This record gives sequence, C-alpha cells and structure tokens, in this order.
Amino acid sequence: MSELKYRRVLLKLSGEALMGDRGFGIDPKVVNRIAEEIVEAYRLGIQIGVVVGGGNIFRGVSVAAQGGDRTTGDYMGMLGTVMNALAVRSAIDRLGVPAVVLSAIGIPALCETFTQRGAMEHLKANKVLVFAGGTGNPFFTTDSGAALRAAEIGCDALLKGTQVDGVYTADPKKDPTAKRYDRLSHQEVLSKNLQVMDAAAIALARDNKIPVVVFSVHENGAFVNVLLGKGVCTVIEG
Ligand code: UDP
Repeated sequence: MSELKYRRVLLKLSGEALMGDRGFGIDPKVVNRIAEEIVEAYRLGIQIGVVVGGGNIFRGVSVAAQGGDRTTGDYMGMLGTVMNALAVRSAIDRLGVPAVVLSAIGIPALCETFTQRGAMEHLKANKVLVFAGGTGNPFFTTDSGAALRAAEIGCDALLKGTQVDGVYTADPKKDPTAKRYDRLSHQEVLSKNLQVMDAAAIALARDNKIPVVVFSVHENGAFVNVLLGKGVCTVIEG
C-alpha cells in the first residue's frame, strides 16, 4: 500500500466546485461525491480541515462592480460560505463521520465560532473541521482563509481543488498549447503571476512553509491519490 504523503491537510473547495453544472447554488450530488472523498481520506487516518468558498452564491466584488458597497457585499459573500459549509458538514455527517462547522463570523444558532484552540480540540476528537466565513474580514478571499487556517492548525499541506488538474502556463480551456507544471515554488507563482490563488494566500503559505497542491476536484479519487503521492497535480513548494 502507498505511504501517506501528508498527515494533516487543509482542503480548499471553491463554491464553484459545489455547484456542479448548475449556474448557481449547490448541487447535492456533487457535495455528496466530494464528502465521500473526504471520508475516504479520513478513514486512511488523515486529519482534515476544509475551507469552503462562496462564489457559487455571492461575491462582494460583483456588488462593487455595480456601484454597491464592497464591504457589505463581502459580508454577504462570507454568509454564502456558511451555507456551503453547512451542506458539506451535513453530507460528511450522513456518511457516519463527525464533522463540525467553525465560522469566522459568529452565528451561534447555526455553528460554532472559530477559535484556534477550539479547532485543535475538535481535531483531537477526530472530527473533520469545516471552516466557514473565510478570514472573517472583507477584502479577503477564502483562499487567504485557507492559507490562514492551514497555518493556524499546523497543516502539512494546503490542497486546492480546482476545475483543472494543476497549474498551467495558460488557461488550458482556452489555449490548447498550455502546459501543466509538475512543480513550482511559491515565489515563481507570484513572479509569473500565475492564477492559482490570490497573492496574499500564496505569500502566507510561502512564509509559513506550507506546500500548496493543486488538483482537479472533478476527477474521482483525485484527492486521495494526491494524499498518497500519486495523483496528477502541481506541487508548489520551496
Ligand atoms: N469573502 C470575504 N472575506 C474572506 C472570504 C470571503 O469578504 O475572508 C467574501 C468575498 O466577497 C468573496 C466571497 O466571500 O467574493 C466568496 O468567497 P471566495 O470568492 O473566496 O469564494 P470561492 O471563489 O472560493 O468560491
């Protein structure tokens, strides 16, 4: 059997990943499939934190683009991530694995409010952590939330599930000559301005020496394969 490459990981799921073929919202079939993969990894003994995005529901920048208030829009976006987190938590729960939503913004009737110590206690109790609300601050993204939580709970790697199986020289959906990188450094991602995660998230991962692994969230089994060091992906490290 293959060796586990990482023991504690942070999985970043964009809101788009949960929407499937729909133009908006959550596709329960897709959420269930992703939950099955999370549970498979959990059963291998990996400790998992999940940061969910909210782009399938709301993005603050789109409010700002139409002349609205960016800060309010961003808080609305953060609320969208809470909806997604509740869906992911309940899908994991239904598979018989304990999971808890920890939100950067207090909504006590729905979920726990994130504290680092609380998160560590839940990890010790063998729960999957589902982080909502990004960083809890406007003008940030859930990618930055993912890098932040990965640093706070001491993850060995941040795994970013995307629409394609790694980082390419150009958008492979638009440019057939685009090539996938196997490895990159955090600094290369920043200097080549590669659109993997926002610069704040990559810089935070770099400063805390957290590798970022980019893989396809749509490919069955890809998450577990990456954890076993055999999936198709791009590793950003060093
Ligand atoms: N957001 C925010 N601060 C954060 C995280 C998210 O203001 O720390 C807001 C922001 O408006 C963003 C929206 O929540 O557009 C959804 O998050 P994101 O765009 O990161 O989701 P994803 O692209 O991963 O689906």
